[in-house]
Amino acid sequence: MFVKLSNLELKDEEVMEKGAPKLCMRALPGEGAERSCAFDGARVVLMPITDAAHVVHGPIACAGNSWDNRGARSSGSQLFRRGLTTDLLENDVVYGGEEKLHYALKEIVQKHHPKAIFVYSTCVSSLIGDDTEHICQQAEKDLGIPVIPVNAPGFLGDKNIGNRIAGDVLLKYVIGHELEPIAPYKKNPRSINLIGEYNIAGDLWGVIPEFESLGISLQTAITGDAKFDEIRSAHRASLNVLVCSKSLTNLAHQMQRRWDIPCIDASFYGIQETSNALLNIAKALGDPELFLKTQKYVKERETFTRTKIAHYKEKLAGKTAILFTGGIKTWSMVSTLKELGIQVLAGGTQNSTPEDFKRMKAMMDPTAHIIEDTSADGFLKLIKEKKPDLIVAGGKTKYLAYKTKTPFLDINHGRKRAYAGYQGMITLAQAVDRTVFSPVWDLLKQPFGEGGSRP
Ligand code: SF4
Repeated sequence: MFVKLSNLELKDEEVMEKGAPKLCMRALPGEGAERSCAFDGARVVLMPITDAAHVVHGPIACAGNSWDNRGARSSGSQLFRRGLTTDLLENDVVYGGEEKLHYALKEIVQKHHPKAIFVYSTCVSSLIGDDTEHICQQAEKDLGIPVIPVNAPGFLGDKNIGNRIAGDVLLKYVIGHELEPIAPYKKNPRSINLIGEYNIAGDLWGVIPEFESLGISLQTAITGDAKFDEIRSAHRASLNVLVCSKSLTNLAHQMQRRWDIPCIDASFYGIQETSNALLNIAKALGDPELFLKTQKYVKERETFTRTKIAHYKEKLAGKTAILFTGGIKTWSMVSTLKELGIQVLAGGTQNSTPEDFKRMKAMMDPTAHIIEDTSADGFLKLIKEKKPDLIVAGGKTKYLAYKTKTPFLDINHGRKRAYAGYQGMITLAQAVDRTVFSPVWDLLKQPFGEGGSRP
């Protein structure tokens, strides 16, 4: 079976290529201001556990920095979206914040009745020496629900380190810790976990219908639209499907070791990638009947989707784009844009594995530019030089696009629309069409009239 969990086979010279993501995950001075910290990375992974409370043990700025900054959606409890914090102040720095945390946990249980509480250490609570782990143990005994310490203060490094720590937390305290373990342990056939799927803008809901049509059951998504008890039983899945190759690779690796759950990586962005993902899942589940069914199914869905996007493809043919994103989207968006007839003039990544970067390069036109200078200045120069019809990137690039009056599509967590699966491809085609052909761009490019107003 194909198992791809590490990048160790990549040669040094390959990972040192210009524009390739850095393997060193420690934030460099100056970079920290542009990118999020380890605490934020941990919170990104754990926060979509919707029926849990997420308490930031630190100054309010840490909580505000990351509160609801991702569009993870829930079909049930909205508790996860509450900005809960101990709000450490100067006095707490002098006298310690443990007591404050203890009372906060009690209050949260009384007011919100969570299934579990995740307590996030921050730079301040860690530097003043609060023993968060001990307080969590005490609270768990007193309150009768799991109270889980997440020791990922920002100074440990960047977001990727936080992602990894969150994976370790899930392994240590959640996965396999069922309330009433079913003995003997057995896996659910035809069931899968999606790892690194956070249900941004409802992406997960775009692929669940495809699984249901094929008779594949979703054990859990780690952690999109997830409930605490579902994650506890994630070890009963027959297959792990790694959707974000960067954030939880180690978790998938450990689950393979501990429960012998094989893992494949997959992307659900674009028609071809969605079909490949479904076929690879069917193959990896080792059920020949399911595989034959999936082959027939993906052909029908591809035909349907291509018919639906034909009109947009015709309009968008020959348009050009600059792509800057992370993870699996790094390469799968290249093929997705190609499916819409759009040529990628330049591509770059900041938050991917070297393997993702390599795949992106292989898919792009050999003449395409690899983005090396990811500073605001570098981007502005690139946009002015390439003059793309569209920029596809995350929210931070939005203002540079608007400054240069270039149509912009948010592909990262700030977006409001789901782009995963076949239905997501139709939504994406509509969104690209609306963005590129919006009359606002022509209006903006007109010269200012008298008195500074546009005609
Ligand atoms: S944890 Fe540290 S780096 Fe992260 S937001 Fe708080 S103070 Fe800033």
